[in-house]
Amino acid sequence: MTARGPLKAGEPVLLIDRKKRRYLIDLAAGGEFHSHSGVLSHDELIGSDEGTLFRSTRGMTFIALRPTITDFVLKMPRGAQVIYPKDIGPILILADIFPGARVLEAGLGSGALSIAMLRAGAHITGYEIREDFLSRAVSNVTRFLGPEVLDRYDADIRDAYAGIGTSDLDRVVLDLPEPWQVVPHAQTALRPGGIFVAYTPSIMQVAQLHARLENSAFGMAQTTEVLNRGWHVADQAVRPDHRMVAHTGFLTSARLLSESPKI
Ligand code: SAH
Repeated sequence: MTARGPLKAGEPVLLIDRKKRRYLIDLAAGGEFHSHSGVLSHDELIGSDEGTLFRSTRGMTFIALRPTITDFVLKMPRGAQVIYPKDIGPILILADIFPGARVLEAGLGSGALSIAMLRAGAHITGYEIREDFLSRAVSNVTRFLGPEVLDRYDADIRDAYAGIGTSDLDRVVLDLPEPWQVVPHAQTALRPGGIFVAYTPSIMQVAQLHARLENSAFGMAQTTEVLNRGWHVADQAVRPDHRMVAHTGFLTSARLLSESPKI
């Protein structure tokens, strides 16, 4: 959300209770939020500032805030496995997403990556093979960013392995099982200097992707993974968290060159 000022009807809002449980609701005039801690009327929230504390009918306190991308992605309805914020951030930088960037994204899944790239200003042509995921992605994107964003989100049922029906792209960003199948299409659809980024959970996929990039006009292929370790900070007890997410996926990027020899 990019809105400022008091909370308004129609906006998604994150409620956090005393036990740190989180709920995502869409504010509606006359609406009610029901949980086992009682009822909270939306009308109380509408017109209040972010960070305000509310009390339910059964005395539970809730803080209301506009959700960040991270809050929203972790709470939105998901069909496909989403890319988590720890990888979404680096993907935005690896793919060097900028306002107005012409991006081909496939597959769309639940729309987590779409949300982040759209908010960074990209114009996305999105391919997805499953109707249910396509509509999930579009509804998540619209719920978080508002319907105006659909001017920059051209999402369709389409198989990225079969080809890319657009040209002069700045970026191709992939989260699908066989990204190497898209390399020849990306090579003709990207402009020289364009960037290719693929997210893959398995290192076998990384090896196969590099083999294909090796025999293409792409250069500067590289792969990285992001490890994110939280810290527990409380008085004198300051130490790394006991648990962390050990693995999500690998990020592979490459740039389209117009001349060999490659670098
Ligand atoms: N990045 C997404 C998750 C994508 S999950 C997110 O952050 O929410 C992978 C998606 O790729 C699935 O929805 C799957 O249906 C889609 N997919 C698989 N093969 C595809 C293909 N050949 N073309 C387009 N989409 C494809």
